[in-house]
Amino acid sequence: MIEAKAVQSTYFTDHCSMPFCKGCGHTHVLRKLNDALAKLNIPPSKVSLVTDIGCIGLADALFETPHTVHTTHGRSTAFATGIELADAVLSDSKLKTIVLIGDGGAMIGLLHLVNAALLNVDVTVLLCNNFLFGMTGGQHSAFSPLDFLTPTTPEGNIIPPVDMCRVMIDARAEFVARKLATDRDLTEVIQDAIQHPGFALVEIVELCTEHGTAKNELTGNALRNIIEQQGQEFGILCNTQSRGEFGVVYSNKYPRERAFTSPQKDDGIVPVYDSKLKQPVGIIIAGSAGERVQSAARKFCEAAIRCGIHCTQKNDNPVTQGSGFSLSEIILSPKEIYYTGIEHPDAIIIVSDDGLLELHEKGAFERLTSTTTIIMDAGLPKPHTQANIVEYNFRKEFGGSKAALKALELYVKQSGVFPLDAFLPPAD
Ligand code: SF4
Ligand SMILES: [Mg+2]
Repeated sequence: MIEAKAVQSTYFTDHCSMPFCKGCGHTHVLRKLNDALAKLNIPPSKVSLVTDIGCIGLADALFETPHTVHTTHGRSTAFATGIELADAVLSDSKLKTIVLIGDGGAMIGLLHLVNAALLNVDVTVLLCNNFLFGMTGGQHSAFSPLDFLTPTTPEGNIIPPVDMCRVMIDARAEFVARKLATDRDLTEVIQDAIQHPGFALVEIVELCTEHGTAKNELTGNALRNIIEQQGQEFGILCNTQSRGEFGVVYSNKYPRERAFTSPQKDDGIVPVYDSKLKQPVGIIIAGSAGERVQSAARKFCEAAIRCGIHCTQKNDNPVTQGSGFSLSEIILSPKEIYYTGIEHPDAIIIVSDDGLLELHEKGAFERLTSTTTIIMDAGLPKPHTQANIVEYNFRKEFGGSKAALKALELYVKQSGVFPLDAFLPPAD
């Protein structure tokens, strides 16, 4: 961990040299970000820098900060949102989380930008807009101006560019600015964005000297003129504080003491019975959708928890939800469960032909040995298997909707995994 320095004049690593092409706008942006951090005198240990793919993604290696995360293309804002929420909810140290993203990544990860703005999470996004995908050969992006020449728009771009500042304002962002990388006051605007309590985005319009200037006339005031001809404005376009920063809102609603309270106490299930369970037990129950298979499994698991048993339940059903099979895999264990898969089930409970068919299709019966007990409805055809089969007329006696519950009740009686009293019948 790097200790805070009294006054930090540079945040770049020792012997840092810019890896970008000569004249690339990224160099301006990073120098101004460095100046902004120095003016704010934020300890490097309190800065979290998040980048993704693209030339600007080379930035994280240049900064002296213990928190740099290089992420997948366009996803840096999503990672930054997670970092910021974890910091707000789990830690007292207030990180300044800064995203450096290109125009290519910004459109790939548009949803993450919109979501971060809606949340008003305390993340500052510096969006480096050079109108193209620089690292991969200069292909056009959603920010390319009309008529812009790139290898993928050799006769000029015919799709109008996105106005990301407008999109962010529509997504309720409260600090939004657009600047040129060469603007003298860019440092101050970045400072303001970092200090803003909540989501802030600065779109920084800049040159890709390798690809942008090769085919397009971008000298003098060209960048400013292009943006203004698109009907877009420069400056701080929005700077308000009408709602709380998400980390504060969340922490107020869900105080940390509550987050760390035992889930056993939270869900109200208090162990009141003893169990003699010594080894983990794996049970699969299979039936038909709409016949309360998974809710019966849940009652069974709740009964187990009432006996102080650790328990997992994994449900499976077709996407149609209301038709076909319904299945639950349950593990009971006297110790914590770290793996929720069942390789060799101790019991399989089958209460309908849909459940039987699904287990056949999974090839479940071929793998069984005599250590598994199958409890199944007597009206179903018996599978070929080495497992022991016990039959009972669940459907005939109790109907389809109670078959799963009654089959689990029988299993509790026969196996003795926990006292039957803990397995309360549902209130009808
Ligand atoms: S390719 Fe373009 S964006 Fe990448 S470093 Fe060179 S000038 Fe900068
Ligand atoms: Mg770009």
